Amino acid sequence: MKTILTGIRANSVLTLGNYLGALLPMVRLANEHSKDSQVNIFVPDLHSIISDVDGDLQENIIRSLKYYLAAGLEINENVHIYRQSHVPAHSELCWILNCVATMGETSRMIQYKEKSKGQESCNVGIFDYPILMAADILLYSAEFIPLGEDQFQHIELTRNLAMRFNNKYGEIFTVPASTAEQVKFMGMENGLRIRDLLNPEKKMSKSTAAENSKIMLDDTPEKAAKKIMSATTDSFDKIKFDMWTQPGISNLLQIEALVTDAPLQDVISTWAGETHYGDLKKKVAEDVSVMLEEFQNNLSKISDEEVYKLLESGEKYANEVANAKLFEVQKAFNLR
Ligand code: ATP
Ligand code: MG
Repeated sequence: MKTILTGIRANSVLTLGNYLGALLPMVRLANEHSKDSQVNIFVPDLHSIISDVDGDLQENIIRSLKYYLAAGLEINENVHIYRQSHVPAHSELCWILNCVATMGETSRMIQYKEKSKGQESCNVGIFDYPILMAADILLYSAEFIPLGEDQFQHIELTRNLAMRFNNKYGEIFTVPASTAEQVKFMGMENGLRIRDLLNPEKKMSKSTAAENSKIMLDDTPEKAAKKIMSATTDSFDKIKFDMWTQPGISNLLQIEALVTDAPLQDVISTWAGETHYGDLKKKVAEDVSVMLEEFQNNLSKISDEEVYKLLESGEKYANEVANAKLFEVQKAFNLR
């Protein structure tokens, strides 16, 4: 059985970008594949502590798991939910992979460059987290890791580490599918990148300070609508989908397609050539509000107890699988 794996850092409430770019596609894939694949959904709480956590980490962890359920995740015996820090094999394998990875390849990671930029000193975790991510993936022999486009470079790094390791020690790791295959598996032509509402050249990120740059999943529908209405556009006065020249408008078209579950091409044709940006904004604002209201309503019906019960069985499964793989690796290094 192949394994599909995904996780979202639980540092704060998630954004609409996380929801549309990661959560929703993952939930759809999980529901589609969980009859004949293992589906691992984990909270990378060790990744959370590389930067300040907004609010209470324990609450964030449980909330982010509820997000999957509220987004429609169907649970069966092949779907496993666990917390990274409750499976110690992740940090153990990370250390071993640290001894396989090179400074050069890790320093090239764009996320590291972006997150350390302008900081006088940055913690080693920010530098090392792609290696921990490789451990998260390789412990479970995961082939498919549905993620946003900003994480593709880390998938390539994971593949390189796995191949280098296998060359030296034998076929111990399953090499994850290439990013091209990941994208195909996700049913997308390209990775999905929801843009920052104020600076549409950048992606929407939960850690961006400006409130109006991002829609949070706990924003009231009214607040979210206001943010869309104040989104940065351009002065072309012509609605056209072109992320290079009109990223703000293109972002709105993309959001519209995703929240209404319509093919992007249809949304593009509907609006092609229109000149009133305000009309498009109003429509997107309305549809985002409706989506948020429904999501928040689902969320309010899920109890903590329900989540803890899933974690209990999920963590039992995860420890079994991860420890077995770790043992193979330890033996390869003559640590066992
Ligand atoms: P941070 O600013 O803390 O890095 P983030 O919003 O970038 O937060 P991550 O925790 O890095 O979120 O990523 C969670 C998941 O959401 C990943 O799979 C990532 O690829 C996806 N993702 C993040 N931002 C976007 C976005 N703007 N559009 C689409 N997918 C996104
Ligand atoms: Mg990020």
